[in-house]
Amino acid sequence: MRKQIAAANWKMNLTHPEMVQLMDQLLDNAPSLNAEQEVVLAVPFLYLEAVRQRLQGMSGYRVAAQNCHHKTSGAFTGEVSAPMLASMGIPDCVIGHSERREYQAESDALLAQKVDRCLEAGIRPIFCCGEALSVRETGTQNAFVAEQIRAGLFHLSPEALSGIVIAYEPIWAIGTGKTASSAQAQEMHEAIRGVLAEQYGAHVAGQIPILYGGSVKGSNAAELFGGADVDGGLVGGASLNATEFRQIIAALK
Ligand code: PEP
Repeated sequence: MRKQIAAANWKMNLTHPEMVQLMDQLLDNAPSLNAEQEVVLAVPFLYLEAVRQRLQGMSGYRVAAQNCHHKTSGAFTGEVSAPMLASMGIPDCVIGHSERREYQAESDALLAQKVDRCLEAGIRPIFCCGEALSVRETGTQNAFVAEQIRAGLFHLSPEALSGIVIAYEPIWAIGTGKTASSAQAQEMHEAIRGVLAEQYGAHVAGQIPILYGGSVKGSNAAELFGGADVDGGLVGGASLNATEFRQIIAALK
């Protein structure tokens, strides 16, 4: 069975005391996971080490960076590289979140390089894709997302592709309270798996966890995760509340 993953994206939230409090609440009698389930916490760079230490020895719990640079090192003031993350024991990194695509003008070509830097360093990329409302309104969302997948990932070998996680996050559902229906999520996830299968075959495509993101909450997670191709969620706002996020973990297949 593919991994089923509840991934938190804290974004640029939480002061240090707030982070400590959230971790205390989350890890007090922490939900136990079965062998196929994972919890990933994508946290600001500053908190990676503290969170990594707190999760040490907890089976299935992983820490992730929210971004990394597309070069391995050099004169890039303020940036953090994939080899740096790897050297600090960080196993996962979110790549291509729509907020970075939009506010930092990250292109598909740049994201393909970031994916490469992660894989070279032994870091698992959580590769984000998803369409804006204007795209969905024209009914071209499947082609749009397929192109993001092709441009960001299709240079990879089947072995390399097998090591990634995809997060489908329709931009119109991120932080808006508007969730895709479970049917819309399943339809897109099936389409993404189909695109992967065309290029890499059904076996490889069947191994890739595809997470849904966009206003996932404790109250809607079980329904969203019910789709056959929905392997959990990437969660922003609700991951900042321990009760909500624990409900989301409990909704994993
Ligand atoms: C996200 O930032 O990845 C996200 C899905 O945010 P939210 O859950 O708040 O919509």
